Amino acid sequence: PSSTQPLRTTKETHPNLPPGLILGPDGKVCKVCNSWQDFAKTKVKKKDGTGTGIAMGMGAFAGMMSGAKNVKSGATSTPTLEEQQVDRRDCPADNTLLGRSTWTFLHTTAAYYPISAPRQTQDNMRALLVSLSLLYPCGPCATDFRENIRQTPPDLSGREGLSRWLCERHNEVNEKLGKERFDCDWKNLDARWKDGPAD
Ligand code: FAD
Repeated sequence: PSSTQPLRTTKETHPNLPPGLILGPDGKVCKVCNSWQDFAKTKVKKKDGTGTGIAMGMGAFAGMMSGAKNVKSGATSTPTLEEQQVDRRDCPADNTLLGRSTWTFLHTTAAYYPISAPRQTQDNMRALLVSLSLLYPCGPCATDFRENIRQTPPDLSGREGLSRWLCERHNEVNEKLGKERFDCDWKNLDARWKDGPAD
């Protein structure tokens, strides 16, 4: 767990935002700390001015994720999330996109790491992991990852050890988020991140 809990929106401080969104150091909602589905719960005035509805993207979400294209329009009632079909390919990253992309990079790099890594390669990998734990743009994620590395230093000796170590660190995040643990058996890791499933 984080040593310092991230600041979050509450009904009192941010009446127009869903409670529980993580705030960044600038006091604004942190895009890379929340998923776009979290933003999409933002309540906005309906077009006919009657009260509020769950904003499925149009004003609040499309605005927050500026750059969104191809928003289907024309619906008379508040569209469902699926109905909006917002193309988010060129939007700023949210927590999910950044997380999946970063894990993909890390697990894939581990899958191609030398079977037995020379000293210089181990130093490079250590520098990468330490830098990531300092620079990862989701602040609370970076804080926890730093603490993880401090408590369980990476096994940099070779491919198998590094892949297992990363798998365990990823599982710690999975557990924190209430997701299933991944099977860190070597064959399973290789199938997921290098060779693909056996035919
Ligand atoms: P992801 O968890 O991103 O996983 C992508 C794919 O990796 C999965 O589909 C699966 O095939 C595979 N996989 C899953 N688990 C493992 C494993 N243990 N080993 C190998 N492969 C696996 N989000 C937060 O909300 N809070 C945090 O504190 C936080 N900390 C993070 C720290 C780091 C260093 C990183 C890189 C990300 C962090 N994230 C955090 C983001 C979070 O881990 C997820 O990436 C994000 O929630 C999207 O999850 P997902 O379900 O799409 O799949």
